[in-house]
Amino acid sequence: MLTMKFGGTSVGSIEAIEAVADIIQNYHDRDSQIAIIVSAMSGTTDMLLQSVQQAMQGDKWGYLSLSQEIRDRHEDTINQLVSAGDLREGVLQNVNDLLDKHLELCDAIKILGEATPRIIDSIVSFGERLSSRLVAAVLAERGLNAHAFDAGEFLITDDNHQDAEPLWDATQRRIQQQLKPKIEQEGIIPIITGFIGSTPRGEITTLGRGGSDFSAAIFAAYLDSDELIIWTDVDGVMTTDPRLDKRAKVLPYVSYTEVGELAFYGAKVLHPKTVQPIINREIPLRVKNTFNPQAEGTLIGSESQPSDTIIKAVTSIRNVTMLTVSGKGMLGVPGIAGRTFLATANAGASILMISQSSSEQSFCFTVVDDRAPIVKDAVEYELSAEIARRDVDSVDITREIVIITVVGAGMRNRPGVAGHVFTTLGTNNINVLAIAQGSSECSISFVVAREDLDNAVLRLHDLALGA
Ligand code: ADP
Ligand code: ASP
Ligand code: MG
Repeated sequence: MLTMKFGGTSVGSIEAIEAVADIIQNYHDRDSQIAIIVSAMSGTTDMLLQSVQQAMQGDKWGYLSLSQEIRDRHEDTINQLVSAGDLREGVLQNVNDLLDKHLELCDAIKILGEATPRIIDSIVSFGERLSSRLVAAVLAERGLNAHAFDAGEFLITDDNHQDAEPLWDATQRRIQQQLKPKIEQEGIIPIITGFIGSTPRGEITTLGRGGSDFSAAIFAAYLDSDELIIWTDVDGVMTTDPRLDKRAKVLPYVSYTEVGELAFYGAKVLHPKTVQPIINREIPLRVKNTFNPQAEGTLIGSESQPSDTIIKAVTSIRNVTMLTVSGKGMLGVPGIAGRTFLATANAGASILMISQSSSEQSFCFTVVDDRAPIVKDAVEYELSAEIARRDVDSVDITREIVIITVVGAGMRNRPGVAGHVFTTLGTNNINVLAIAQGSSECSISFVVAREDLDNAVLRLHDLALGA
């Protein structure tokens, strides 16, 4: 059994979908049991989110034209890739029905003047629901027994809309009992929507932006796949984001732990939760390029392999804010950090990095920009007694910062790596505002001013390249 996922660019144009169909056909010749997960055509999810904004503002013309643009793009692709006949008519009808529902939901938002996370999830789900039907039709045109499925039939989640967490047992049961037999006994190639799930009551949820990778890993795990292949628009996991440094090289092999750190700290190539479902089952994960299928790609597995350079890759996260809690009276007072982090979690924000100074007189942590004001208020409220007594000063906010992370399993037993990293930054006049070592000991993260981002990535990338 093989599970493969195709990202937004891979299904984003007529040529791309043809390449995808060639790949699926090829792999199907080798292993007849295949499950496919697809993202929305590139840009569609953003357009759907924009339609929500327009509907909230009462801009009917805006969402009508966006919906029309999405409709045209899907129809054109179908007309090019599926020949005239019942198959084409059927899928065009599907596309039209889905986009009619999109407009109905936008109308409802316009009347109410607001959109709940639940409605937003229903609206963004159309991207994957459209692309899955389109890809299934193109494969059926080539004579393959492909059928589109909405993941909500199998992938059951809690009701934390826009960032839902799978309910693992229910999901496992549904995939094993309802999906697996379709592949094994009926010979179907399911084309499943990435990114979306459903609550036990049948309400549509989504797994967070970029979540199709996570969907693919969930299906790979419960289908007992021998391998998961994530097809994207670059040759594999690279030493850094190729958009930041053209010298970026493909890493032939990385461990689950390393790739988990890379993804958590900003490497967009994989969703941070991707390895979660497959790590214990040791299902090999390969990242490959739809537009260059001959290239080996990156293999990801449980073993950690040393490399020539201790630092294997460099990542960065923008749009983050650092909050600092400090005060002379904090020294030795237990529980302040714990209460701060709990208040942050209760304010709905995840902490990306924590750093404490050894004097215990201050600690700082980073959250995404748009949660920062709420977190500041929540923490100040939680610590109001200490602030009133002046044991703690108010919570400071530092904006315009970025988190840079260097990753490599070899750091674990190698003293001096941090020193090397900071000397490099120092000699390049880059001021480090905070430092933290990842709990897996295969990464070091630090905060620098946003204006230093490019320079810091380039100079640390030199170390990863052995330059
Ligand atoms: P998909 O639509 O296939 O899921 P994404 O756009 O989500 O693709 O992720 C692929 C992109 O991730 C690449 O085009 C690349 O620009 C970016 N990227 C960032 N960091 C890395 C990295 N370390 N290795 C590879 N790609 C990276
Ligand atoms: N289409 C979704 C997004 O753009 C999910 C994904 O592509 O993984 O975020
Ligand atoms: Mg992605």
